Amino acid sequence: MTHSIQQVTVGVLALQGAFSEHIQLLSQAAFYLKENGANDSEWRFIEVRTTEGLGKCDALIIPGGESTTMSLVAARSGMLGPLREYVKVLRKPTWGTCAGLILLAESANRTKKGGQELIGGLDVRVNRNHFGRQVESFQANIDLPFLRNSRTLTNDEANRLFRSVFIRAPVVEKILPRMKGIQTEEASREATIVAPSKVPADEIAKEFEAEVEVLARLPNPATPQPKQDDANPVPRNEGDIIAVQQGNVFGTSFHPELTGDPRIHVWWLEQVLTALGRRTLQGS
Ligand code: GLN
Repeated sequence: MTHSIQQVTVGVLALQGAFSEHIQLLSQAAFYLKENGANDSEWRFIEVRTTEGLGKCDALIIPGGESTTMSLVAARSGMLGPLREYVKVLRKPTWGTCAGLILLAESANRTKKGGQELIGGLDVRVNRNHFGRQVESFQANIDLPFLRNSRTLTNDEANRLFRSVFIRAPVVEKILPRMKGIQTEEASREATIVAPSKVPADEIAKEFEAEVEVLARLPNPATPQPKQDDANPVPRNEGDIIAVQQGNVFGTSFHPELTGDPRIHVWWLEQVLTALGRRTLQGS
């Protein structure tokens, strides 16, 4: 039996920030997938600086850095529109880390109107610089339950805590109602900006409509858990939301690209393959 090898191009937006670290981890993750017989795709990882480059990508990562600068450069190079098209109309797999998560949110706090533009795609409000200034940056070992869905990582690998770097990191402070149009209530808040609306291009893109799922939270040892009373259950004090997914869009508050651990990249490349498989089935 003959079968053709699938070629998959993954781009990393390289306008500013930690893009080369992502490319390195993507290569490690692809090597891991191949070693473990997970797939025989031929991966290409490219730095994306132009609309033409974006057009070559089956999936995209928006790295950590400075979201204000990134959106400014994207606007100047005419890429904001094509990026919105890519994420919200074509609904291609996209992952944002830190500043990337901010750009992929439909609403962002602590932002001067006109100071920055969003791409959108995740119906969430992020709170920028949630933990304070640069000096308040920290590292934490966190459990990432979603790694346990990986087809390739071993149980031990999926269960091992993930060393995460938070640098002036945002958190998801609110899950918003799923909307096709602009998040109007958000737009009327002070010091908050929202992304312009977009609707999916076609039936294939519509397939990727989904609710926001919370994939990981910070542990919250600082706040004592409320006493559980069976008659009046109280919600547990859960920590800040640091990873979410909505259909084709995935966002993390922290920088997995700065710790040299490719496990999330392995998980995400598996997600990319699944999404491409769904598209091929739909399109055939
Ligand atoms: N606080 C930064 C911003 O608003 C994000 C920080 C980061 O990506 N490390 O863009």
